[in-house]
Amino acid sequence: MLLKDAYKDANRPVFSFEFFLPKTPEGFEKFKQTVHDLKTLHPSFLTLTYGAMGTAREKTLETSGWMKKASGVETVAHLTCIAHSRPEIERTVETLRSYGIENIMALRGDPPLDGSALPLEKRDYKYAVDLVRHLKRLGNFSIGVAGYPEGHLEAASKEADLRHLHAKVQAGADAVFTQLFFNNADYFLFAAKARKIGIEVPIVPGIMPIRSFKQIQKFTTMCGAKLPRELTALLEPIRDDDEAVAQAGIGYALRQCRELLAGGAPGIHFYTLNQSRASLAVCSELQRELSR
Ligand SMILES: Cc1cc2nc3c(=O)[nH]c(=O)nc-3n(C[C@H](O)[C@H](O)[C@H](O)COP(=O)(O)OP(=O)(O)OC[C@H]3O[C@@H](n4cnc5c(N)ncnc54)[C@H](O)[C@@H]3O)c2cc1C
Repeated sequence: MLLKDAYKDANRPVFSFEFFLPKTPEGFEKFKQTVHDLKTLHPSFLTLTYGAMGTAREKTLETSGWMKKASGVETVAHLTCIAHSRPEIERTVETLRSYGIENIMALRGDPPLDGSALPLEKRDYKYAVDLVRHLKRLGNFSIGVAGYPEGHLEAASKEADLRHLHAKVQAGADAVFTQLFFNNADYFLFAAKARKIGIEVPIVPGIMPIRSFKQIQKFTTMCGAKLPRELTALLEPIRDDDEAVAQAGIGYALRQCRELLAGGAPGIHFYTLNQSRASLAVCSELQRELSR
């Protein structure tokens, strides 16, 4: 199934799960188990992030192929362009094609921490939109792109960021997947503004059930998502009790997803962090409620 077709039935929310490439053999075993666990929910897509360079890059591509083959679930391979030349992207795309991958999440990526990114004017791809354009020329891929309900950290303004998102859609993106967020009002406002400037493709909310207080502080600092006061008040008294935080995280994510779907979101993209428990709990409950 192609991303561009997956969201056509407005009465059937689309569920998808995001994974990352594990670094250790034990992590890989856990990852495989998580893929199998979450497959039982019949998601429409699994996605695999792309962050690795060198030999891990090959492993990432190979793992996308494994996900698709072993799970039988359509797989979306993420691909970042900031540190790649056009010939490298062309080779990568050929490899993905050989694994039967037809859906690509086209991203710019973050500048490598070692400072190895070329200056903007020397890059083959300055922004994700350049990758979307190139992928469209390379074949019949269906393309997802990233959107930021709270604005991207580098953007001059939320409006400028939305214009750049619009450019990605005009270049051929079939769906927008959002950065994680905890305040649904941010998503609804973002989606409404996007529609107003002519972005008509599905805008899929990205949800990450909170697992620990420390972890959520790290993530929100990294991606700029804010924790609403209501959520902080819920977590502060239990911050040192990981199990209690995980339970509260499941409850909060479930309430968020219910409201998003009721408000017209086309589905939910779960940031699983290669763990099945919270995504299983939230997604299975949603499916149970939707089937009533
Ligand atoms: C759903 C999702 C999946 C992700 N998966 C991965 C992954 O697998 N691997 C990974 O490394 N990272 C991933 N990321 C993170 C992402 O790579 C970073 O957020 C990155 O900093 C921006 O990527 P982008 O594709 O949104 O970039 P872009 O769309 O290129 O935007 C980057 C910044 O440039 C600005 N911009 C865009 N066009 C222009 C222009 N013409 N002129 C001036 N400014 C412009 C935008 O407003 C924004 O501030 C993901 C993020 C999301 C939301």
